[in-house]
Amino acid sequence: MTKRFLITGGAGFIGSAVVRHLLQETDHRACVVDKLTYAANLASLSSVAGNPRYWFVQADIADAVRMTDVFADYRPDVVMHLAAESHVDRSIDCPAPFIQTNIVGTYVLLEAALAYWRALPNNLKRDFRFHHISTDEVFGSLKADGCFNEATAYAPGSPYAASKASSDHLVRSWHHTHGLPVLITNCSNNYGPYQFPEKLIPLMAINGIEGRELPVYGSGRNVRDWLYAEDHVRALLIVIADGRLGETYCIGGRSERTNLEVVKTICRLLDELDPSKTIGPRQKLIRLVADRPGHDLRYAIDPTRICSELGWQPRESFEAGLRKTIKWYLANRSWWQEIRSSVYAGERLGAPA
Ligand code: NAD
Repeated sequence: MTKRFLITGGAGFIGSAVVRHLLQETDHRACVVDKLTYAANLASLSSVAGNPRYWFVQADIADAVRMTDVFADYRPDVVMHLAAESHVDRSIDCPAPFIQTNIVGTYVLLEAALAYWRALPNNLKRDFRFHHISTDEVFGSLKADGCFNEATAYAPGSPYAASKASSDHLVRSWHHTHGLPVLITNCSNNYGPYQFPEKLIPLMAINGIEGRELPVYGSGRNVRDWLYAEDHVRALLIVIADGRLGETYCIGGRSERTNLEVVKTICRLLDELDPSKTIGPRQKLIRLVADRPGHDLRYAIDPTRICSELGWQPRESFEAGLRKTIKWYLANRSWWQEIRSSVYAGERLGAPA
């Protein structure tokens, strides 16, 4: 059955992947609510902009009046809440927008959703879903062994992770207290086309294309568990369709790599796909720089629950997904050149004081 999806943060990296998937691979409708912060990019939605099943509303999720109006006007069956301040380094430099959007904004959205849901007729009320999209960073840092799963205790280390942990708790409590039909997912690091070039993979890809330095924090031994964004999108839609209300699902690609391994692989791919005599081998551009304050050592997800209960599996291996991603950044220079020249030029963020 065709459903009406309300997607907060739909002009961001993962949100725009959700919207493109919904409009290009399914018959569902999608309404994006996005404040259009520095991280948003309407060019990421240009392929669906003319689709009659697509709406766009520029609004702040922390604006209670606007959120009430959005629910009344659009009448969603499903809310996918992705709007957030998402970059750890920026949360070190300036945490205020993280508190405002990730915590206050989530609270405002929950209140608007609850009032709307309570007034729905019973059949629509039963099927309504509020899906909160979160991160594995809420669980803190792992040592060399073990993985996060749905039973892992929260221990957020960065202001970003703490703000997302707060929002997870708020969402869970609106279910426990008010019965709002929620679902929560905590996913590992995403990568893929259309990612804002402050994050590791696009920053290194673009610096490498331009022959600039490749700054790697600390020893480069920090480990992340990488997932191709399109695999995350499929996981989210499976959780909405079949997930148990009030439950959490951890999503990850079983693809652990040290940051240094990731950057070296990007160098190899760029040397192969975009050889340059002037730049030479990209690995010589790698520089170990001062570490991020409070840098979590390792994240890794055990996705057994979503795999065994809901039948999800990632389709993309890290090597194949990274190759696709590098090809995309090579073929879509205007997408990132616009960002580099007007929004973010690649400077260090979140440096130690
Ligand atoms: P992003 O930074 O690329 O996009 C965030 C979007 O939210 C932007 O379009 C921005 O304009 C919008 N936004 C910010 N504040 C807003 C506000 N107050 N009102 C309305 N819109 C606002 O982020 P992303 O990487 O696409 O992440 C999306 C979600 O997924 C976030 O909640 C993030 O915590 C979560 N997540 C991300 C990753 C990852 O690796 N990127 C992994 C796990 C979970």
